[in-house]
Amino acid sequence: MMAAMAAEHLIVYGGSFDPVHVGHLIPALRAREILAADRVLFLPANRSPFKMKQHPGASGPQRLEMLRLAMVGVAGCAADERELHRAGPSYTVETLRELHAERPGVRLTLLLGADQLQMLHGWKGIGEILDMAAVAILPRMTGMAADFSSVRRHLGDATAKRLEAGLLATPLVGISATEVRARVRAGLSVRFWVPEGVAGFIAREGLYG
Ligand code: ATP
Repeated sequence: MMAAMAAEHLIVYGGSFDPVHVGHLIPALRAREILAADRVLFLPANRSPFKMKQHPGASGPQRLEMLRLAMVGVAGCAADERELHRAGPSYTVETLRELHAERPGVRLTLLLGADQLQMLHGWKGIGEILDMAAVAILPRMTGMAADFSSVRRHLGDATAKRLEAGLLATPLVGISATEVRARVRAGLSVRFWVPEGVAGFIAREGLYG
């Protein structure tokens, strides 16, 4: 008798990635190991619904290229450009629906930095998102522990408990894309803050200056 094949398990990791930095990469790849997932899909957003007023420093194609450069020779991750091809703000609920439609039986885990918890109840289709995917949370070194109080208040105890159980013990890498952009603007090196190939791309394209 043939053994049943385990369902493919994808980690869905969305963001601006403007630019991708080691604070994205180290925790996300560690999350893949902890969850024994097949792959981390990095999805650069066309526009984040929560960053609508901001102009990203780099274009969609540039952010995608930096993700690709970051992943050269790295197993278990991929950049997925679908959100860049959708007009308007990038809604995770649509991305999860598409992934389920394309890969029947796929197991999805949505990966979020802990800072996202404050606004999670405002995400379009949050109920459907929580039905379609497991959720794993990356702790972020923003001065406070992951705070589930706003999830509890708006989405209820059961959801807060479920998300708390998804908090991962990934390394704390206390940097943000905002800091990386600020360093470039100030003429400081971003060596080791971003992968070598990404640093080269930022310099060549004159980004964030
Ligand atoms: P910005 O500083 O421009 O707001 P960012 O560095 O926070 O950007 P995003 O691209 O907005 O990065 O984030 C994508 C995802 O990565 C989010 O879920 C965010 O919480 C998470 N993330 C970003 N930086 C870190 C970090 N240092 N550690 C853990 N998670 C992170």
